[in-house]
Amino acid sequence: MTAGFAWIRPEPHGIHVVPADCWIDPSRPVDNALVTHGHADHARGGHGRTVATPETLAIMELRYQTREGALPVGYGETIALPGGVNATFVPAGHVLGSAQVVLEHAGERVVVTGDYKRMPDPTCPPFEVVPCDVFVTEATFGLPVFRHPPVEHEIAKLLNALRDHPDRCVLVGAYALGKAQRVIAELRRAGHHDAIWLHGAMERMCRLYEELGVDLGELRLVGDATKEQLRGAIVLCPPSALNDRWSRRLPEPLTAMASGWMRVRQRARQRMVELPLVISDHADWDELTRTIEEVDPAESWITHGREEALLRWCQLHQRRARALALVGYEDEDD
Ligand SMILES: [Zn+2]
Ligand SMILES: [Zn+2]
Repeated sequence: MTAGFAWIRPEPHGIHVVPADCWIDPSRPVDNALVTHGHADHARGGHGRTVATPETLAIMELRYQTREGALPVGYGETIALPGGVNATFVPAGHVLGSAQVVLEHAGERVVVTGDYKRMPDPTCPPFEVVPCDVFVTEATFGLPVFRHPPVEHEIAKLLNALRDHPDRCVLVGAYALGKAQRVIAELRRAGHHDAIWLHGAMERMCRLYEELGVDLGELRLVGDATKEQLRGAIVLCPPSALNDRWSRRLPEPLTAMASGWMRVRQRARQRMVELPLVISDHADWDELTRTIEEVDPAESWITHGREEALLRWCQLHQRRARALALVGYEDEDD
């Protein structure tokens, strides 16, 4: 299919940068890893050396309690890897610290996006378009049915529900890395300055965001609250806690969930979500196709989700593309 680019090889457990013997987001321990961001399906512990942004390394340290072999590379900084490969980390707009890895070797440039989005996010710098020969793009929401609404609409729905039910609390299920902090930051941007209450499992990541310069306003722990304090308040918890025993201590919780998957009614129903909020940290269909047009690569490699539809779109638009079969990436981080 492709004659060139033999130096970069998609393997089932990651993308192998052959001359540098380096792996991007490997799903098993390797000697040399380049990690795009802190979500568990991309950032795993146990590598010999891990190159990532300082924010991603701090997130990994929090999760794996080790900083051994960590080599921080700031946005826009280029490092020379063995075998004549240069690597630059460029913002991906997905979560705090998330980066695209730009690889250059023998006059060719390959960009590996990791996860990304194009919508603005107050918790991280926006995605940057980098022209390249090969563009390795995620396609988590790679179907035309996925079109994410503006985040302001979804935040307004949340605040309206809060106003309409002053005796209840609104319980929002949100992934603990990225989504939770973005929802909080967007609530602040919309003028909601009351204390926001957290499930204990979210505290450390929120504190880390604040240490890294993301202001989240007043955060308090549900464990410290009386039932009365939680009436008319917003409570955030991991999606797994939405329907478990933990939520019974809350005053008549109105159950919400912030996820791109809330576009699928069946998924909302499965989780017994009364208020689905379509807030995604991944590119939707329009963002994916617009990004391929803007980056305008000689070839796109599609991974991490619904490859077939985007592959077909590329073919219809006379763009070279192939689907990669990487394993070990879950789509639940949204
Ligand atoms: Zn992710
Ligand atoms: Zn991912």
